[in-house]
Amino acid sequence: MNRSTETDLIARYFAPLAAEGGLGLKDDAALLRPRPGFDLVLTADALVEGVHFLPEDPAASVASKALAVNVSDLAAKGAVPVGFLLSAALPGDWTDAWLAAFAEGLGRAARAFECPLLGGDTVRAAGGLTLSVTAIGEVPAGRMVHRMNARAGDILCVTGTIGDAALGLALRSVPPWSGSLEEAERGFLGDRYLHPQPRIALAGALREHARAAMDVSDGLVGDLAKMMRASGTSATVDLDKVPMSPAVRRAVAEEPALADLAMTGGDDYEILCAVPPGNLASLRREAEDLGLALAPIGIVTDGTSPPRFVEHAGERQFRSMSFSHF
Ligand SMILES: [Mg+2]
Repeated sequence: MNRSTETDLIARYFAPLAAEGGLGLKDDAALLRPRPGFDLVLTADALVEGVHFLPEDPAASVASKALAVNVSDLAAKGAVPVGFLLSAALPGDWTDAWLAAFAEGLGRAARAFECPLLGGDTVRAAGGLTLSVTAIGEVPAGRMVHRMNARAGDILCVTGTIGDAALGLALRSVPPWSGSLEEAERGFLGDRYLHPQPRIALAGALREHARAAMDVSDGLVGDLAKMMRASGTSATVDLDKVPMSPAVRRAVAEEPALADLAMTGGDDYEILCAVPPGNLASLRREAEDLGLALAPIGIVTDGTSPPRFVEHAGERQFRSMSFSHF
């Protein structure tokens, strides 16, 4: 095993990913000069081996997921990425090959999301791999999209499809569930778990048209309840309108209990937003122009009772609202 010192390691693997403000990762801190007329938006999310990813997940996938889940939060706030800080606690048995693959995946994600590395820290973990990313984004001053601004009458919308990642993870749990899904469907679900796609392109349209938004990381049902609680509102959601991929539809048709997992399992990294009815057509058109599906799934209502989830068969109660990483 060819082991580097921390200084070598940073110079070799991380410095090539650094933006100008990262000063080549040679200083004690990064320097960021906010653009006049913009606010900075900051968010942090940690990924812990065995909690947020599995020990056998490829290094490049873990790296890109660590950045993607943070950039997803920025997108939901209507923010455009500026850069990120990474603290990595590496287990004692890391290898140069593992770290090279990690840095390669991180660099690829940073380029794809236009979110360069600004700085961070590398330490030895006592247990498994732990990553903490702080992402920084910008919005025109005063224009961040809050979670707490939904109002009764707003239409609730969600991007993409819900439940793919949760079922992708279920395919790998012990004992695994796979039903009669075809290989391509299993591959699709597994990829949705490993490689979340933050909806960065939608940030501008959210600023323009949405009243409130958040990303769906801990399951649609629980995250929606969080947004309503923050806004001091309730909601009625039509579960039949929640968009699901053909693979999830097939899985649920075969094993109806999986519907709950799809709605509460998390790791979707889609955007949930509350949109004034008059803005809905514009937001849908802009999403469509970006090649992004956006489906109305319900309506914000007055009151502070928990959201109601209705479907053709009546009202549904969820035993567990969401996946907790805590
Ligand atoms: Mg979030």
